[in-house]
Parts: sequence; structure tokens; C-alpha cells
Amino acid sequence: MTTAYVGLGSNLGDRLGTLARAADAIEHLSETHVVKVSHVYESAAALIEDQPNFLNAVVEITTGLEPLALLGLLRDIETEFGRERGVEKGPRTLDLDLLLFGDEEIANDELTVPHPGIAQRDFVLTPLLEIAPRLVLPDGTYLKRSEGAVGAVLRDFGTMPPPDTEHNMPLGEVEWVEVARSDSLSDSIAGFDAGLQFKRDVLADQGIPYAFEPFEPGVDMDPFGLATIFKLLVPAERAPEAVALFRAVEQAPLQYPEELYTED
Ligand code: ADP
Ligand code: MG
Repeated sequence: MTTAYVGLGSNLGDRLGTLARAADAIEHLSETHVVKVSHVYESAAALIEDQPNFLNAVVEITTGLEPLALLGLLRDIETEFGRERGVEKGPRTLDLDLLLFGDEEIANDELTVPHPGIAQRDFVLTPLLEIAPRLVLPDGTYLKRSEGAVGAVLRDFGTMPPPDTEHNMPLGEVEWVEVARSDSLSDSIAGFDAGLQFKRDVLADQGIPYAFEPFEPGVDMDPFGLATIFKLLVPAERAPEAVALFRAVEQAPLQYPEELYTED
């Protein structure tokens, strides 16, 4: 079995639902399992700019398939989701890129691995570093953020939803209800700030969509350029409800899930 990473992207239709169903389709490929799933991140389209924003995520898989067989099956999934091969770098319902395949280096007409865009694309680096922060590339170097990457991540939409639900993304008109702090974007928002995790659960329980938006570059960033403070956004019409819920939980004794107490 080989550990591989697949990048998922969508900028047409039900983007979030498409990513969730595509991750599920990858899980159902023969000899293949999805081991880790990153958060979903939004970015403005790079390269060709006049098109809708993208949502992207990365999954870690283990697979017994050969790289070209895997690529073929990923293309079949793209087609299944209505991908039409029109403008290169243009809008698409689903894009699946094989980012890394074990420590293999492959360069032929059909497949280049590691995917040549990894280092230059923030929308790939951010989810990949989130699930594989100490990844060693086939050339022996560590995966790291690079200056001048394109496609900067604008928002973190949190964990990928279940595949079988409809998603009314984007949020529409949003309101900033809270400043969220995390020690690092990776693991994130989920791992470090128990209070924040709790609030996310409250929003999810009430079916209130939410997103995190990093502050402008330079505002309270860590040395790796990962934002440490975020705006917690919800749809404007549900903002009063969210604020009331937060007040209520702040007054009640907080009951954090047990695992958040354990130190590692
Ligand atoms: P892009 O993802 O760069 O916007 P496409 O999804 O249209 O472009 O892919 C174009 C071609 O890139 C595919 O036909 C595929 O054969 C080739 N390709 C080369 N290396 C890879 C890779 N690592 N992952 C996915 N496709 C790849
Ligand atoms: Mg592609």
C-alpha cells in the first residue's frame, strides 16, 4: 500500500457538496482508503481570474493501485461529476489532482508527480500542510510554505460535511460575530482553542453555516505566515441567533468534550 495525496477543487455548482461526494467516491475506489481529510478552504481563482471562487481540500489515501490506474479512476470521478474539459485552468465542477504518490517521482505525458503546482499554490499548500505538517517530499526536503504562492486562502470553511447532504454555499451576506484565535492554522481552529471548538459545535447543532476568514496578511501572523486570528463569519440574517447562543453558553458552565482536556 502506498500513501498518496489527492487535491480536490470545485468552483461551479454545489461546491461543498461536490467535494464531499468526491472524497466519498475516492473512499469507494478499489484497494483505496481515505485516511485523512483536510478542512475546506476558499480561494479566489488564480491564473484565470474572471471566474467564481474555488473551494479546495486535500485527502490522504492509502492505495494498492498503480499511479496511472489511480489517475484514470480520478478522471472518471471528475467526469461523473460533470466535468467538461473546456478552458484549461477555467471553471470546473470538480478537479482532482494527484499531488504525491509515496516517494515516487514520475514524469511522463500523462502524469507528473509530485504535482508541479504544489509549492506555488496556497490553496494546495494550506490543506496539505494541515493534514501532513511534517511531510518529506521525494527529494528529501520538507514541504513548506513558499513566498509568492498564488491562490491565497481567503476562508476556512471547517471540516468537510457528510457526502449526502445539500449545501447552500456560499454564506451570502455575512456578519463577523467573533474573533477566533488559534495557535496555528493546521489542526487548527479545531485543536487549540477549546472554547472555539465548542462554539463551532453549537453552530453546527443549530444548522448555522459558518466560516473563518484570516485577517489581512501581517495582522497577528505566526512566523510561517499562518494567520493566528480569524473572523468567525455567519450569514447576516442568523448573526443575532449566533450571538445569543454564544452568550447563553458563556453563562452556562462549559462542558468541553473530554479529549480536549488531555494534553499531549
Ligand atoms: P489542471 O488540474 O492543471 O487545471 P487538468 O485537470 O485539466 O488541469 O489536467 C490536465 C492534465 O494533467 C490531465 O489530463 C492529466 O493527464 C495531467 N496530469 C499530469 N500530472 C497530473 C497529476 N499529478 N494529477 C492530475 N493530472 C495530472
Ligand atoms: Mg487537474
